[in-house]
Amino acid sequence: MNARPKKSFGQHFLHDRRYIDRIVAAMAPRPGDFVVEIGPGEGALTLPLLAAAGSLTAIELDTDLIPGLQARAAGVGELHIIHADVLKVDLGALAHSHGVPRLRLAGNLPYYISSPILFHCVEHAAAIQDMHFMLQKEVVERMAAAPGSKVYGRLSVMLQLACRVEPLFDVPPEAFRPPPKVDSAVVRLVPLPAHELHDAPPEQVHAVVKAAFGQRRKTLANALRQVLDADAIRRADVDPKARAETLAPADFVRLAKACRNLPP
Ligand code: SAM
Repeated sequence: MNARPKKSFGQHFLHDRRYIDRIVAAMAPRPGDFVVEIGPGEGALTLPLLAAAGSLTAIELDTDLIPGLQARAAGVGELHIIHADVLKVDLGALAHSHGVPRLRLAGNLPYYISSPILFHCVEHAAAIQDMHFMLQKEVVERMAAAPGSKVYGRLSVMLQLACRVEPLFDVPPEAFRPPPKVDSAVVRLVPLPAHELHDAPPEQVHAVVKAAFGQRRKTLANALRQVLDADAIRRADVDPKARAETLAPADFVRLAKACRNLPP
């Protein structure tokens, strides 16, 4: 234990037992679940999750942490460590290689790449049963924000089109070593069932959302000028004079379907 935490890897190790127990209880892994942890660090969450599930696959980028993790897991359960950047791991293929349709993800995420990790998970949502993540509290607020809220944006729309977003509880900086400069929160994400998913190409939805929020002060007619004219916006049943922050996630899907020739 007690490796010197590396800032460049976003290492803040959770040490407060109460929060560790609450995360494990919220996830409630059972023997037979295919549990995958992102960024196991020194194993604060890994070991109790492993004890509950019997086996666990952990994806860790920092080579120096791997021998310690392996040693601590001995006798607790079957730990498989993938030494990789999680953004390069095909989660669908991972589930497939274990012969299960969907995996259960957990992690106290490295905050410096939390948004890319969330988008990566959304891309693989069909292979995921649920996710329990520790994130910056402000990020959880953005993920769960409703239209009209100041923090409603690209992350809110993309996450809510793919998952049910359930903020669970806050975690103070003192629960980590070293303490981060921000408050944290734990969130549960449950991918929506197929019949609730939209049928527009995801890249297209992403491009519209990005364009709309890229210029959030402008009306949609202005922000989307490159891809949609005002008539097309109206045909999608959206007011061209509205601003992106007032639209529901489903409005963006209709706008994406109305688009032709979107930039990649
Ligand atoms: N789970 C541990 C805990 O709660 O104490 C550590 C959490 S720490 C906030 C984030 C962990 O993610 C570190 O172990 C770090 O090395 C790892 N990490 C950072 N970037 C990563 C990446 N791109 N892919 C996989 N793991 C990464």
